[in-house]
Order: sequence, then structure tokens, then C-alpha cells
Amino acid sequence: MQSDVVIIGGGLGGLSAGAYLSQQGFNVTLIEEQPQVGGFAIAFNRDGFTFDVALHAIPACAPNQPFYDILSRLQIADDLKFIKLNNAFNVYLGDYNFLIPNSFSDFFQKLITEFPEEKQGLTQLKTYLEKYGRLYYDVVEGNSTPYKIFTQFIPRIPDFLKNSRLSTDDFLNNYSKNEKVKALLYQAAVFFGEPMAGFPAINFIIMFYLLFTSGMYTIHGGGQALTNALKNKMLKHKAKILTSHRIKAINIDNRLAKKVFLDDDREINCKTIIANVNTPYLIKNLIKSDSIPEMYGQLVESFKPSLSILQMHLGLNCTVEEIGVKHYLNIFFPNENIDFAMSRQNNSTMLEGYSIIAPGINYEDKKSNNRRILSIVGGVSGQEWIGLDKAIYNNLKFKITEQILNKLEILFPNLRKHIKTVNLATPHTFQRYTQNPNGAILGFKAERSKHRMLLKLNHFPIKNIFLANAWTNRLGGFMQTLKSGLIAGQKSIKYLNSLH
Ligand SMILES: Cc1cc2nc3c(=O)[nH]c(=O)nc-3n(C[C@H](O)[C@H](O)[C@H](O)COP(=O)(O)OP(=O)(O)OC[C@H]3O[C@@H](n4cnc5c(N)ncnc54)[C@H](O)[C@@H]3O)c2cc1C
Repeated sequence: MQSDVVIIGGGLGGLSAGAYLSQQGFNVTLIEEQPQVGGFAIAFNRDGFTFDVALHAIPACAPNQPFYDILSRLQIADDLKFIKLNNAFNVYLGDYNFLIPNSFSDFFQKLITEFPEEKQGLTQLKTYLEKYGRLYYDVVEGNSTPYKIFTQFIPRIPDFLKNSRLSTDDFLNNYSKNEKVKALLYQAAVFFGEPMAGFPAINFIIMFYLLFTSGMYTIHGGGQALTNALKNKMLKHKAKILTSHRIKAINIDNRLAKKVFLDDDREINCKTIIANVNTPYLIKNLIKSDSIPEMYGQLVESFKPSLSILQMHLGLNCTVEEIGVKHYLNIFFPNENIDFAMSRQNNSTMLEGYSIIAPGINYEDKKSNNRRILSIVGGVSGQEWIGLDKAIYNNLKFKITEQILNKLEILFPNLRKHIKTVNLATPHTFQRYTQNPNGAILGFKAERSKHRMLLKLNHFPIKNIFLANAWTNRLGGFMQTLKSGLIAGQKSIKYLNSLH
């Protein structure tokens, strides 16, 4: 077989690159190990319920906002229906409850009303984020003009670098030392699963700005709807998609990728490869080690995988409102010391803080089965879960299911009698489906002072292999992964054009 471009893996990064390249008229073949494409962004059926795995919330889905722009460039924005969340997060810190508005000014206003003694610091923080969040976001995303870089960013470089080294905890301490206030502000980055004390302030500044100025959204039909839109675009433009097949090796000859070998021993000759598989797996399992410079291998090794999670799906015999759930995205921590909870769970098999998502709460159709679904997600240690003996693993799954249900029953008494189906996915499940180390969902972990090294990751040492996945400098999430696919598509085109 022969193809201009071979894409290894059909997660969002691979599909995004595939949709872009096939629209531009290139001959594309995508190979996906699972029976369906989508990677994490899929739904599955169990006992009459359809559970969407990945999508909780994404930012900036209104026209002219960043996520919408990416979807427009992939020509799928019109194929999707976005739902703006009424509120951002419904947060519980022990018994204390705070409903975070889905708007930058309203959030600060509400914080100032609730914590009047923090007014001065909060006002300064608001001004800082308004002024520099956008600037830093544009520079990091490569959206800035040379004029803006020269006049606005260059004078701010010391501040930018300082905040790459600084922890979010130290950054927020400049504005408020109130633990509740900091815990509420940090919700903008809480889904990275990192304690504030380890999370780079610059990532927080950018995330906060992006989430709260552009608002948080979900997609009607969840991650599966996005996957379908990308897959349909590829098929419309005559791309080939081969599912239930694994790429087992890439042939490198004279420092260029020449062909891939499938699990059934077929070969596909190609001019360029887009790797949607995670970078550690790519260089360890698919490419012979002597083709990768030792330095690049060491660079990849120096990054740790990001968040590993437990996810429980519940299908109920009544609507979620009937058991007392009022909001789409609910976050629970034992108390305001959220760093303590996050540090503990990162070394444990058990959840401490977690979110409860009610995906159907935004749906108008009152009869939809989506209104009877809850999804519970929380960070845990991937290492503690992976590699367990099968009997111990199954036992632990049973025990943890009980523990989570007991926690939930405190919030929603009588929950158990409404449960029709329970499904628990562990880091082991996520690793089995995607090959990601520890089943991590957001690529590499964001670490302080490592921004420059992250950038180097994208310069893959084989010049016709391009990375389109969460394991690039963009890190993970729907928006970032789609963008990595778009960029990999553009780089492939430049390379293919240079051959003529
Ligand atoms: C529970 C959960 C909730 C999430 N919530 C959000 C959210 O609210 N907002 C957000 O922005 N992000 C969220 N994410 C993160 C987001 O889903 C991921 O960052 C993103 O989908 C990663 O996409 P990817 O393209 O890197 O690859 P993956 O989804 O990891 O896909 C890689 C693909 O490659 C295939 N593959 C691997 N090896 C081979 C091989 N040798 N040959 C062929 N195919 C292979 C795998 O089967 C897989 O399909 C969530 C994730 C999870 C799990």
C-alpha cells in the first residue's frame, strides 16, 4: 500500500490532522488500534445508557474565540452545537459551598462580596489577569503580531519568566492569603490534578484568563460528537480509516521514515507520518532506538505523565435532579486545603477531591437518558493502579466503587436505590485503551521552569514525523490536542511541498 501521509492513532490529534490534510487534497491513511476512532473522546453503551468518556468543559466556543477558530479551520464548527454553561463550577470545600459564575467580572464581584476583607488584593489580581492573561496567551499560542511582541511582550519578559518559575500558590499569595479564596480561584486549573504549590503560575494565569473571559462550554453529544464530525470530514474527503489495526513499527532509513508495519504484517509506504500516539511510546515501541538521538530520549524521559484518573459512570432510574443534583459541573474537596487533598490522592488509589458531572442537565429534552447519568472523576496515582495482580485489581475496584458510593450517599441520600448501572474505569483501563503511560489524560505534566524544554519536544528528530497529540508542548485537553493536529498537518504539507 502507498499513502502520502500515514496517521498513527485516531484520537483527537490524529483526527484533527487527518481532517485538515484530507481537505487540502492529500492522500491520507489513518490507522487506529481500537474498533472505533476517538481515543478518549468517545462514548460507550451500557444497559441502555450512553456514557461519554471525556468531555466536561471546554473554553472559548463562541464565534471569534480560540476553540471555535480551530474548529472553523477544520471546517467542522457548523457541524457542532455548543452549550454555554450557566455557571462555571459548583464548588464544595467541606460544608462550604460557592457557585462560581461563568464570567470573569461576575466571579471577581462575587468573591469580593463574599470576602470583603480581600477586596484590595482581588481587585489587583483582576487587573493583572485582564491586562496580561491575553498577552501571554497570544504569545504562547503564536497568535501575537510582531508589533505587539515588540511593544507589549518584550517589556514583560522578566515577569513572564518569573511566573514560569513561580508556583501558583506563591503567585496567589501576593493577592490573598485566604485559603478559601485561593482554592476557589484555583478551580480554573484544578483539573490538571496538580497542587497549587507545584503548578506553574504562568499556566494558571493563561488558563484563568481563557476559561473565565471566554466562558466554559460543552458540546451537545459530548466528545463523541466532536469525534464524529472530524471522522465524517475525513471520510467526505476520501481519507482511509483503518480501525482494529495496530502499527507495530516504523521503518526509518537514512534518517527518514519510509513505511509503517501493521499488526497483520501489511506495509504502507509513505512520505510523512503523523504520530497521534504518545511520544514516550512512539520512541520506545515503534522506532528502533538507534534512530533516535540519545538527547531526545533523555528529554522525553525528563517529563512525567500528567493526571491519572478514576472515573465512575452511574445510570439512574430517575433524573439527576430528582436525587438533588442541580448543576452540570460540581467539585468536591474535603476542606479548603485542596493542595493537601491533591497531594494525597496523587500517591493513592483513592479519590480525595472529585467532580460530579451531570451531562444531561443542559439538555432540553426532559426524557433524554442523558438526564439520568452522573459521571464522577478524580485524580489518583496511576502507578499505584497499574501493574496490580488481576485478583487484587478486581478486589480494589470493588472496594473503591463502594467507597465512592458511600461518599456520594452523604451528598445524595437514597442514591443507591436509584442506581441501575455502575461502571468504574481506572488508570489501567485508560492505559489499555490509549497506550498512554499511567493512562494519563493530559499528556506530560506541566512543571515549573520547564517551558523551554517543552518547546524542544516538538522538534522531533526524524524530519518527516510530526507529533499530533497531547504529548507535545501544547499539553492536553480538547482544544490543545486539536491545535496540535492542525499544526502537524500544516508542517506535513510544508514538508510534502518541499519534495517537489
Ligand atoms: C475522563 C476524561 C475527562 C476529560 N475531560 C476533558 C475536558 O473536560 N476538557 C478537555 O479539554 N479535555 C478533557 N480530557 C482530555 C482529553 O480528552 C485528551 O487530552 C485528548 O482527548 C487526548 O487526545 P490525543 O489525540 O492525544 O490522544 P488519545 O485520546 O490518547 O488517542 C490516542 C489514540 O492512538 C491509538 N493508538 C495507540 N497506539 C496505537 C498504535 N500502535 N497503532 C494504532 N493506534 C494506536 C489509541 O487507540 C488511541 O485511540 C478528558 C479526558 C478524560 C479521560
